[in-house]
Amino acid sequence: MFSSVTEFKASFLKKLEMTHGTSFAESTKREQFQTLGLMIREYVSTDWIKTNEQYRTNGQKQVYYLSIEFLLGRLLRHNLMNLGIEQVVSEGLNELGIELDDLEEIEADAGLGNGGLGRLAACFLDSLASLSLPGHGCGIRYKHGLFEQKIVDGYQVELPEQWLRHGHVWEVRKADDAVEIPFWGSVESYHENGRFVFRHLNAESVTAVPYDLPVIGYETETVNTLRLWSAEPSRFTANVDILKYKKETESISELLYPDDTHDEGKILRLKQQYLLVAASLQSIVRSYKKQKRSLLDFHNHVSIHINDTHPALAVPELMRILMDDEGLGWDEAWNITENTLSYTNHTTLSEALEKWPIRIFQPLLPRIFMIIEEINERFCQKLWDKYPGDWSRIENMAVIGHGEVRMAPLAIVGSHSINGVAKLHTDILKEREMNSFYQVFPERFNNKTNGITHRRWLLKANPRLANLVTESIGPAWISNPEKMEALLKFKHDSAFLEKLGDIKTANKQKLAEIILEKTGIAVDTASIFDVQVKRLHAYKRQLLNVLHIMYLYNRLKSDSDFNLYPRTFIFGAKASPGYYFAKKVIKLINTVAEKVNNDPAVNEKLKVVFLENYRVSLAEDIFPAADISEQISTASKEASGTGNMKFMMNGALTVGTLDGANVEITELVGEENIFLFGLSASEVLDFQRNGGYYSREYYHYDQRIRDVTEQLVNGFFPDTEDEFTAIYDSLLDHNDQYFVLRDFASYVDIQERIGDEYRAKDAWLDKSLINIAKSGFFSSDRTIREYADEIWKIAPGHKK
Ligand SMILES: *Cc1c(COP(=O)(O)O)cnc(C)c1O
Repeated sequence: MFSSVTEFKASFLKKLEMTHGTSFAESTKREQFQTLGLMIREYVSTDWIKTNEQYRTNGQKQVYYLSIEFLLGRLLRHNLMNLGIEQVVSEGLNELGIELDDLEEIEADAGLGNGGLGRLAACFLDSLASLSLPGHGCGIRYKHGLFEQKIVDGYQVELPEQWLRHGHVWEVRKADDAVEIPFWGSVESYHENGRFVFRHLNAESVTAVPYDLPVIGYETETVNTLRLWSAEPSRFTANVDILKYKKETESISELLYPDDTHDEGKILRLKQQYLLVAASLQSIVRSYKKQKRSLLDFHNHVSIHINDTHPALAVPELMRILMDDEGLGWDEAWNITENTLSYTNHTTLSEALEKWPIRIFQPLLPRIFMIIEEINERFCQKLWDKYPGDWSRIENMAVIGHGEVRMAPLAIVGSHSINGVAKLHTDILKEREMNSFYQVFPERFNNKTNGITHRRWLLKANPRLANLVTESIGPAWISNPEKMEALLKFKHDSAFLEKLGDIKTANKQKLAEIILEKTGIAVDTASIFDVQVKRLHAYKRQLLNVLHIMYLYNRLKSDSDFNLYPRTFIFGAKASPGYYFAKKVIKLINTVAEKVNNDPAVNEKLKVVFLENYRVSLAEDIFPAADISEQISTASKEASGTGNMKFMMNGALTVGTLDGANVEITELVGEENIFLFGLSASEVLDFQRNGGYYSREYYHYDQRIRDVTEQLVNGFFPDTEDEFTAIYDSLLDHNDQYFVLRDFASYVDIQERIGDEYRAKDAWLDKSLINIAKSGFFSSDRTIREYADEIWKIAPGHKK
């Protein structure tokens, strides 16, 4: 069907008629897209079945990656590329008068995630399949993904996202594999054949129905599975108000929680977590048992990963299945559980540590709560033996305390491996945030620095640069991205650097067109494209960026000698709907943009753009066009970051703090090829521990700070009244928790240096080249190999 252009065209036309009952001439773009999607799914189905069969029969160890988020984005071009049929399809469509680019635009982003954590899970799936590793995703099929953002009068407005409106062409509903999930009810225990048996009575059952997506690897026959669960009414639930029950049930997989840092404390969120875990584990155990192997051997054939604490109920749920359903004793079950599960920590922000009030937890999940109590008692006994009499230590570490179930301790106690996501982050976990657990389980802690799939973020997103790399060093880098280091031989090669510069300009041109179309703002592609795209959060410090822009504006207005190299500041960020401060920062960015862009005295040199609805597909147009990557979080607060890696791989230079993976970027490229500023992580942590920072001092001693902060509240921006008082107060009354004013001067200095250095074109491009050449380390292929070898102990199946 894809072996030649002619054959493709014939199959495409036939399929279009058969599935949509229209002639080609009458067909819509959507029908054409659907047709192509179905053809691809059919094309991979043989390999998909074969892969599953192989996994079923050869007893190869499998890993299941449990994640409450998968931020997949679009799949059409990515799948075509991985299957090696992009060329044939694009030419065939062309001959029919269709642009592949246009069909690509039809596909809705699968936005089943908030940001970095969900995108990491998506990159991991691509690397697992591309490395022919037996690894699958388990998640939730939210009816509505992350909200769609509109900017109205400078404010964020949220609209419900509708990715399923036209169906999802890649998914296959597997109603036969549905699983029953019990909520509420009570637990009865009785003696049977000399042992205690537990039975869950009067539960309200929910049916979890799986939808499978094929995960297609690059140039391999491996097709893995992403299984997404949908909640539906169960035929086992009787005697209820049917309408109410249906509504409540379906609401479980209705929407993604639009916040990845605050515990929502919602019963619905807990139901989501248990549904994900219980459905996934039941289906994993079911397929394991089909292999007719002993359950005592489970952990030698199955590895289950807990992505952040959201799926930490895997610990008690696996215990429940092994004991209640399969009849094992506690010690046997515990040994299997510990050896099967592993856990990744994604944050040290204390407000993000999940806890559930017992009064909510116990009635909803009575049997699971009993098991957690037992886990807690045994763990506290162990602590008591190690630290006799040290009540406060034990109280702090306990899985249940102060009327709450604590998910991080639960994940730590029940897993054989606990990893952080960048060197600095893992060190902070070991030395500070989780030090007490590190002392008890030192062998469990390890680091796995995050990565991104270079296939989506370079090969697909930046074809111009990818082609230059291949022309220059051959195609080996595609399966072995660390080979990009060979590009270093083009340092000081002015012919090569010119091509690199031309590619950046062409990518900037494309983004400029998007900006014009979406915002009406004309930007100068000769200016520095300075980009900060990520979720809006106080610790990520978009505020520092915008205060610096206000300073530049003030200086351009007051100092006629100020020779600013022209800059275009580009923002993209969604704020959680309930996050008041974050929404104020969005309004501030847009207010500053309005002022700057409409002031002819400065707008030749300074432009500010806010691109609404930042998401994966938009990101793919942004990263290739960036000159500067803003990674300016308060040191110690960003666990890793992955946006920083995407920028680096596309040749942007980083301005950043020594935080998260910026530390490792610096080690790779050298301090002369990155723009560092600000407090270090240990300085921040020491200030937090010992005090000694007074933001008002910086206000008093730095005129520039005084000017920009006063402008927030003194009517400088027309019609804003007390719009920005909360921001002003956070900086001055609340002592600037994120050290924005403390780092301001050093940020201004480094930004000035960036402007100066950009003038020396070839020296700049050399730095850009070094960043690209060293970025292979941040391929998620490297990350996944480390997980596979050191945590999961899985090996590749047969490659093509
Ligand atoms: C990579 C990515 C992120 C994560 O960005 P950070 O800068 O690491 O926070 C968030 N959202 C989208 C759409 C992404 O592609």
